[in-house]
Amino acid sequence: MKRLALLLLVTAVLCSDCGGGGTGGSPAAGNYKITREVMDTIVTITVVADEGSRDSAEAAVRKAFDAIYEVDRLMSAYREEGEVSEINRDAFDRPVKVSDLTFNAIKRSVEISRETDGAFDITVGPLVRPWRAAEEAGTLPAEETIKATLKKVGGADNILLNEEEKTVRFLVEGMRIDLGGIAKGIAVDRAVEVLRAEGIKGAVVDAGGDLAATGRDKDGVKWVVGVRNFFRRKGHIERLALEDKAVATSGDYERFYEIDGVRYSHIIDPRTGLPVQGAASVSVIAPDCATADALATAAGVLGPSRAMALVEDGRMFAGCEILFASYTHGFPDHLAPAAE
Ligand code: ADP
Ligand code: MG
Repeated sequence: MKRLALLLLVTAVLCSDCGGGGTGGSPAAGNYKITREVMDTIVTITVVADEGSRDSAEAAVRKAFDAIYEVDRLMSAYREEGEVSEINRDAFDRPVKVSDLTFNAIKRSVEISRETDGAFDITVGPLVRPWRAAEEAGTLPAEETIKATLKKVGGADNILLNEEEKTVRFLVEGMRIDLGGIAKGIAVDRAVEVLRAEGIKGAVVDAGGDLAATGRDKDGVKWVVGVRNFFRRKGHIERLALEDKAVATSGDYERFYEIDGVRYSHIIDPRTGLPVQGAASVSVIAPDCATADALATAAGVLGPSRAMALVEDGRMFAGCEILFASYTHGFPDHLAPAAE
């Protein structure tokens, strides 16, 4: 097994007061913040508001949360009534018509899949189940189960999208999509869109460390977000100054399957059906949070050198930055192919 760069970062903490003095902010402006639990994580929205515009700021934040609830309702694979569940039930038998929001999320996922050579692949859906079940049972899934399930992982090319009709169709029986690797990013981007439309000039939307900063903070300087550095431990915080940028982190530090005392990442390598091991944390800075979220997941599969190459080739991910923390890349030892 290869061991690679031990570097930076993990989960994000907003520290709006550590940006240093700037000019250009309104003197009476303050940061107004609301936190709620949604999408299986803690979401905090911070907006800049003057004394006199507190009420409208609060209304804007409420609308932004509504947008996040909507993304969750439509795209969760665990909500029977959601559009993704309907797709998973019916899209092999008939084209399923969905909202623009869901259609665009799937379309973006397919594009990212193509650009990452299939490392990001929402059709890993069928594999999410056996790994979840394995966690509950406390034993690893059988090799045959993974092999059989892999046949249902159709890949992005087997999702048929009809732009005019806004329909989704599967070309392989048993296919399922899971937007878990991009949905939080999409929700964050939607919330930012709503805040901007409501006239909010500066805000941070943080969904459990996947966040976007828009405009500037109350002092008129870039938002400073702290990203915890697990490598240096002891609560060391890396500070990033952001304006109209997003950060997302994937890794096994917070969400993971624990089976028989061993931690397995939630990120599954679509080629092998096995969870990625060793990606303790990958953080991505991108222009939007959906791209950051998906690229962080893809980078977990690809490993540092292939992930960096994607950014350097200057195509879809030009302008993104990838930060790896405490990273080792390879298979779980007991599942590693014999040749390795
Ligand atoms: P987090 O669990 O912290 O949200 P990620 O953003 O990396 O971390 O998302 C992991 C989720 O993405 C998994 O729970 C699963 O739903 C989905 N997923 C797993 N592997 C892949 C993959 N290779 N491509 C796309 N989505 C994936
Ligand atoms: Mg992700």
